[in-house]
Amino acid sequence: MTEQFQLIVDFIRKIFANQQIIPLHEPKFIGREREYVLSAIESTFVSSVGQYVNKFEFEIAKYVNSKFAVATVNATSALHLVLKVAGVEANTEVITQPLSFVATVNPIAYLGAKPVFIDISPQTLSLDPQKLYDFLSTQTEQKFVNGRKIIINRNTGRRITACLPVHIYGFPAQIDQIVEICQQFGLPVIEDAAESLGTFYKNQHTGTFGLAGVFSFNGNKIITTGGGGMVVTDDMDLAERVRHLSTQAKLPHPYEYFHDEVGYNYRLTNLQAALGLAQLQNLDYFIQRKQWLAKQYEEFFAGFENIKFVTSPEFSRPNYWLNTVIFDSFKTRDDFIKFAHKNKVLVRPAWRLLNTLPMYKDCYVYNIDVAQDLAPRIVNLPSSVI
Ligand SMILES: *Cc1c(COP(=O)(O)O)cnc(C)c1O
Repeated sequence: MTEQFQLIVDFIRKIFANQQIIPLHEPKFIGREREYVLSAIESTFVSSVGQYVNKFEFEIAKYVNSKFAVATVNATSALHLVLKVAGVEANTEVITQPLSFVATVNPIAYLGAKPVFIDISPQTLSLDPQKLYDFLSTQTEQKFVNGRKIIINRNTGRRITACLPVHIYGFPAQIDQIVEICQQFGLPVIEDAAESLGTFYKNQHTGTFGLAGVFSFNGNKIITTGGGGMVVTDDMDLAERVRHLSTQAKLPHPYEYFHDEVGYNYRLTNLQAALGLAQLQNLDYFIQRKQWLAKQYEEFFAGFENIKFVTSPEFSRPNYWLNTVIFDSFKTRDDFIKFAHKNKVLVRPAWRLLNTLPMYKDCYVYNIDVAQDLAPRIVNLPSSVI
């Protein structure tokens, strides 16, 4: 195996021009970042009021073709507000997948609700529509409360209030099917598109299929604002509620401070938006380069029988955020990760399944065989723009 590991490490080193340490994903500032950030400083509007915030929102909405966009301090806070506005309440449940970053589920917990974990599809690594349908049609019952249809998880007795699929590693979920199934059961769909800015499914941008979608601009995402997030939606009421809650629920007024509910300090700053706007101008270039990189990896890994390179699912144009391979065994995968790190090639294992973390271990889990089988064999490869 060591021989094979050495071949892989050598290949990665060659691609990344033998950098000393090869990170998993580093940001690239090769556009107008400095100019815009300096101009934000010079304007003195460095905080959350400023033209760059509005411009950044406008440009993201245009890029993904959504009616509204609301910028937030990160995607975690964006998910918190969207779930709240979509009607997630304490002691209810939100359907999601066990393979994701912990920031998918923490906002559910902030609201006092609980995640329900349903399996991923082996093709997309995202929520499996068939299993979602099986769960909803066999494990839930409908009730009418004050003339409103609600869905109860039979196993826990709790109401289900939303579905939160994640587009993993920049690959799109089969989101049209997920939305259609959820519509049958009256559930709003919120898309965790934190990793999938630039990813299209059937020529439509991820994050725009459900009630709302959320993007992240953390330092390791495809474009960055340092830290930042964005809600996109076609629902004006939802956009306005999210914006209101993100700015301390302050009613607009030239000088009076009146707040009509408990709000949050979740709005993106102008300094960060300045960085984001410059980054966004290079998004298509980044994707082009990452597509090239994915092709190099794909061709290289075609030569290994025990390692499968994850390719684009049907009907998708991914953003190629993180290149991913699946080993045939957990042991080989772990040995490879150790070997690569010793050689300063910072590959990364898939996250621990969320249902195994201490705070989520008692949550309801429905048939997660695929996630349990694949997650311990997944490795993400260095994927920076080069
Ligand atoms: C990065 C990420 C988030 C959280 O984004 P932040 O902007 O860091 O809060 C949420 N979900 C997924 C799937 C992510 O990868």
